[in-house]
Amino acid sequence: MRLTGATRLAAVIGDPIRHSRSPAIFNAAFAATGLDWAYLAFEVPGGRAAAALDAMRVLGIEGLSVTMPHKTDVAHLVDELSSQAARLDAVNCVARDGDRLIGHNTDGAGFVSSLRIGAGFDPAGRRCVVLGAGGAARAVVLALAEAGAAEVVVVNRSPDRAADAAELAGAIGRIAETSALAAPLADADLLVNATPVGMDAISTPVDAALLDVLPDGALVADLVYQPLVTPLLGLAAGRGLATLDGLGMLVYQAAEAFERWTATAAPVVEMRRAGEASGVPGE
Ligand code: NAP
Repeated sequence: MRLTGATRLAAVIGDPIRHSRSPAIFNAAFAATGLDWAYLAFEVPGGRAAAALDAMRVLGIEGLSVTMPHKTDVAHLVDELSSQAARLDAVNCVARDGDRLIGHNTDGAGFVSSLRIGAGFDPAGRRCVVLGAGGAARAVVLALAEAGAAEVVVVNRSPDRAADAAELAGAIGRIAETSALAAPLADADLLVNATPVGMDAISTPVDAALLDVLPDGALVADLVYQPLVTPLLGLAAGRGLATLDGLGMLVYQAAEAFERWTATAAPVVEMRRAGEASGVPGE
C-alpha cells in the first residue's frame, strides 16, 4: 500500500481494539480493489464517542466502524439512522452522505449473507433458535425476522433480556427457558450461538445430549470466531450436522460497510483470507 496526499481514511473505534481483525480485512479489500484508501484502529475509551465523531467530521474520515463500548452512544450522535440501527439502538458502521453522518448496523445483514452464501441456508420459512440476547444476538434476531423466518426463539441466561430481544422479531418471536431448550431444538432448522461461550476453546453453550435433539438437517452457527472451530461446532460436526463459523458474519458485515463507503463491490474472498490470517496463531 502506498499512502499519498489523496489517500482516503476509514477507521474503527473501540476499547479494547488492538486485537481487532478489521484493519487486516479492510486493508486487504482496498488492496484487492486498487482503491487509494487506508484503514486504522483507534483506541477510544468509553464516553469519548462524541469526540471521535467530531474528529470524523473535521478530519474528513470517510467511514467509521464502531465496536464496544460505543455502539449505542454513536446511535445518539449521528445525523440519521438506518431502520435497523434505529430498532437496535446500536450503530456499527458510520457512512457519509455529504456532510451528514449516517449510522447503520450491518451485523444482521452480515449474518444473513454468511448464512446464504457461506452455508446455502435461506432463513425464509425456517425455525430458528438464538442463544444469547446481547448486541450481536439482537442484530441476528431482527435480521432473521426481516429475512422471513417462521419463528425465532430466544434463549438467554437473563430472561428479561431474552424477552426484549424476542420482541424485535415481532409476532414470530418468543422466548424459551434455558432449562426447557429441548422442545424448540427438536423442530429447529437453525441454532445460533450468540453468546461468548466457546471463546475459551473448552465450553459449549449447549451440551452434546441437547445437540442430539436437533433434526438431522439442522444448521449450527456460532458467532464466536476465535477459535474458528468452537467446541459447539466441533460437537455439531461430530454429530453430522452442517456448521457455520463466525468469521463469515465478520467478513460480510465488513463487506456491507465497504460497499456503503466506497460504492465498490466488496472482494469477500480476499477479505475472508485476511481475516483468517489475522487470527492469533494457534487459536
Ligand atoms: P454482549 O452484548 O455482551 O452479550 C452477551 C450475551 O451472552 C448476553 O446475552 C449474555 O447473557 C450471554 N452470556 C455471556 N456469558 C454467558 C455465559 N457464560 N453463559 C450463558 N450466557 C452468557 O456480547 P455481544 O456483543 O452480543 O457478543 C456475543 C458474542 O458474539 C461474542 O463472542 C462476540 O465476539 C461475538 N460476535 C461475533 C460477531 C461476528 O461478526 N462473528 C459480531 C458480534 C459479536 P446475559 O444477558 O444473561 O448477560
